[in-house]
Amino acid sequence: MQLKDKVAIVTGSASGIGKAIATLYAKEGARVVIADLNKEAAEVTAKALRDAGGQAMSVAMDVTDETAVNAGVAEAVKAWGTVDVLVSNAGIQIVHPLEEFPFAQWKKLLAIHLDGAFLTTKACLPHMYQQGSGSVIYMGSVHSKEASKLKAPYVTAKHGLIGLAKVVAKEGAAHGVRANVICPGFVRTPLVDKQIPEQAAELHISEADVIKNVMLKDTVDGQFTTVDDIARVALFFAAFPTNALTGQSLVASHGWFMQ
Ligand code: NAD
Repeated sequence: MQLKDKVAIVTGSASGIGKAIATLYAKEGARVVIADLNKEAAEVTAKALRDAGGQAMSVAMDVTDETAVNAGVAEAVKAWGTVDVLVSNAGIQIVHPLEEFPFAQWKKLLAIHLDGAFLTTKACLPHMYQQGSGSVIYMGSVHSKEASKLKAPYVTAKHGLIGLAKVVAKEGAAHGVRANVICPGFVRTPLVDKQIPEQAAELHISEADVIKNVMLKDTVDGQFTTVDDIARVALFFAAFPTNALTGQSLVASHGWFMQ
């Protein structure tokens, strides 16, 4: 058990990648906090983890709302005493060409990805500093390194998370806190399933073409990355024991992006 009794808050973990991370962390002995906008879905995930013998609780948390973030982190700390691992994972996707991008949607996307990362980090760091250890993990993307058409705020936000991780790495080092970014390629989750018809409409191509010639075109083998692949990377970052691995971003994308 690599995370025995470690307290891990995973945002956006009622679904998709976050849910897979929470599930693997629970199997590895962590006490997992399923923090999601959707409290009902968060509790379904937490209950499934408990039914499988894990330790899990759910909290309602809109990561863009400072009061809700602070309340959710406080609830977790009240239940389990501290925070050892934060996975800032909650995210959405919105696609439009730049000249048509509604400003409100630009701001909404940046708020979930960037304000969410900032607010959850700010709420968790004092607990990590107090105990002299912690691991902060941001869910970036290949879009932290590369651009794609139609994704202006997403690419902007995902690049920004690398900057935030580097600052947390520098400020956190004296307190034993590390920060790193996971950069997945396309993973088949509700977030990606929603984009396929949207991109087909924007680009005037079929959904099969969006998958083959847009999403997976530059992979080495035409394969989607899986939620389990990303959970393994998240476990590696969470369990790594020293500051040797900090301020880094790791791409898992079937070779779509090679550093
Ligand atoms: P998903 O839609 O399956 O899950 C996202 C979760 O975030 C949902 O449970 C949703 O309720 C929650 N959420 C949304 N807004 C929130 C808010 N304001 N506060 C709290 N929770 C909120 O998506 P996913 O594919 O699992 O994406 C998870 C993360 O992985 C995102 O940051 C995404 O950008 C990133 N990512 C996904 C892919 C991919 O291909 N799926 C690739 C690279 C990076």
